[in-house]
Amino acid sequence: MAAFDLRTIPADVLALCSEIRTAGHRVWVVGGCVRDVLRGETPADWDMCTSATPAQMMAVFPRAIPTGIAHGTVTVVRNKEHYEITTLRHEVGFSDGRRPDAVHFVDDIALDLARRDFTVNAMAVDPQNGALVDPFGGAQDLALGVIRAVGHASERFAEDGLRVLRAARFAARFEFSLDAATESAISGSLDSFRKVSGERVRDEWAKSMLAPKPSVAFELMRRTGILGVTCPEIMESVGCTQNRHHSFDVWGHAMACLDCSPRDAMLRLAAMLHDVGKPRSKAWSDKNADYTFYDHERIGAEMVGPICARLKLSRDESVRITDLVRHHMWHYDAWGDAAVRRWIRKVGVNRIEDLLALRAADVRGKGPGKDFAEDDARTAAFRAHLERVLAAGMAFGTKDLKINGSDLMSELQLKPGPQLKQILEALLEDVMNDPAQNERSALLARARELA
Ligand code: ATP
Ligand code: MG
Repeated sequence: MAAFDLRTIPADVLALCSEIRTAGHRVWVVGGCVRDVLRGETPADWDMCTSATPAQMMAVFPRAIPTGIAHGTVTVVRNKEHYEITTLRHEVGFSDGRRPDAVHFVDDIALDLARRDFTVNAMAVDPQNGALVDPFGGAQDLALGVIRAVGHASERFAEDGLRVLRAARFAARFEFSLDAATESAISGSLDSFRKVSGERVRDEWAKSMLAPKPSVAFELMRRTGILGVTCPEIMESVGCTQNRHHSFDVWGHAMACLDCSPRDAMLRLAAMLHDVGKPRSKAWSDKNADYTFYDHERIGAEMVGPICARLKLSRDESVRITDLVRHHMWHYDAWGDAAVRRWIRKVGVNRIEDLLALRAADVRGKGPGKDFAEDDARTAAFRAHLERVLAAGMAFGTKDLKINGSDLMSELQLKPGPQLKQILEALLEDVMNDPAQNERSALLARARELA
């Protein structure tokens, strides 16, 4: 049996294991951490499984947190680290396609490993001697670079519909392929996938977005039909050819753009969706002798609202994504300071970095053989101009004006109401054009005229 280098296991984990053993129970280090160590990575967390029942674990660790007692999981805190220790269990019946109807505590590590999703996640290590327990060939699949379901793929996917997304996520994260039988079982599992909550889908999407190339996960979702369940809108992009500026169809461009964007889950989601409105705006132009996508950013921004809602994104996340889709089309070209200020006011100061990052990804996603040096030079000039305008501290919102609503009420005897806001907006417009006008007496004089 293959041996596992025990020196890779943190001392606290070994100590917890030995305390459990001293109390007369068996214990293993299990799951993702074993996989990560075998891949030469440092695991984010260390999970253990044991023959001890939850009550017996509470006796060994009286201060343990009873995280999921019914499923046999307690959390033990050691030196501020949280460790999940779970009673060996076997799960039966998943009539709702989400969770087991019953959980039986068992005394057999192989039975516990059998309930896990993929062979690479179904390995355990005996912390006493480093023996690897690997009944499903997980180590071999790691070496081959394959994600393979434990047992019958279609049965496993029917038990818990989320597993199809986990398959896509692990394939992308490790740049592995999906075993053919496992992949072909996905299309038949869409009904169980439909039962998965938006929150669980969101969490898997967000983790998939952090993979080296998230497109691996999303291409897989497209091929197998899972993506169409969560986001039918983006399926309109598949096969939607563009114009002479692009080598890829809209979908291919979205994938390339996704892989070129910075490692930030929501920014990457925006990159994937930024052109989602293109298929609905595609029109032939005789003048250009090519296709145009007029207004696609506005159409796209309207389409992403329902997508974000379906994914249960927070309000902030959803506003961020909508803003990026809405404002990704600008053509910086001999703009004066006033035009730059107006653009900042339109997109918001807090969106500038995101939009510049999205643009860099967008031009790289046009496809092989497309030169982006000129685009990058233009973006660099725009950034320098933005920085100059920002450094000058020129007004971007009515709150930056040197007078406010109460000044208008006290100086001009105006009453509270919509008129105050209208006057402030008009003053801001003037200041955008000429920042020198942002001065108290000039503003009051102009306000008097407007009132
Ligand atoms: P990560 O590094 O993303 O945390 P992980 O493999 O540790 O990867 P977790 O979600 O933390 O994933 O789950 C821990 C272990 O529990 C997995 O390795 C797997 O053995 C098992 N597992 C988790 N979710 C499922 C599931 N939906 N179906 C079956 N087994 C699962
Ligand atoms: Mg984990």
